[in-house]
Amino acid sequence: MSNIVAIVGRPNVGKSTLFNRLLERREAIVDSTSGVTRDRHYGKSDWSGVDFTVIDTGGYEVNSEDVFQEEISKQVQLAIDEATSIIFMMNVEEGLTDTDYEIHEMLRRSNKPVYHVINKVDSSKEELAATEFYQLGIEKYYTLSSATGSGTGEILDAVINDF
Ligand code: GDP
Ligand code: MG
Repeated sequence: MSNIVAIVGRPNVGKSTLFNRLLERREAIVDSTSGVTRDRHYGKSDWSGVDFTVIDTGGYEVNSEDVFQEEISKQVQLAIDEATSIIFMMNVEEGLTDTDYEIHEMLRRSNKPVYHVINKVDSSKEELAATEFYQLGIEKYYTLSSATGSGTGEILDAVINDF
């Protein structure tokens, strides 16, 4: 059974962009089908010769955070139940939101390894803005540009190292 890495976060932070980037390494979508998994996409990836499955949560994507209680929390709980490791993605463009705090709290209560990733850090000027995420009380976060791929390697190194 391969390790499973789930990407969670509120709508529009860039989850699917990272998911698609990871799959470029090995283009095989395993399952995006019906039933309980209908809201998630699964794919195979590998890093440094280590294979893993990636889950893109959030098939509900609508341009609103009003869906939190019913959809986001459900997806986060499924990720907690199913994943080996969880990438919790936020983004510097919109900054730290109430929904981020709620997701953070759910993940904190799980015993899964969680990697806090601040996306849309496309250049050095956003690195400074990302420091606001320390308000979550976390010791470390990773900055990422899903769009360019910058930062992906450091995150994956950490994730596979903890398998
Ligand atoms: P999801 O709803 O979390 O799956 O987010 P998506 O992957 O669909 O991305 C939402 C929007 O953000 C899209 O318009 C992406 O092109 C954009 N986006 C994703 N990653 C980045 C990034 O690293 N930098 C910038 N500037 N835009 C990004
Ligand atoms: Mg998406």
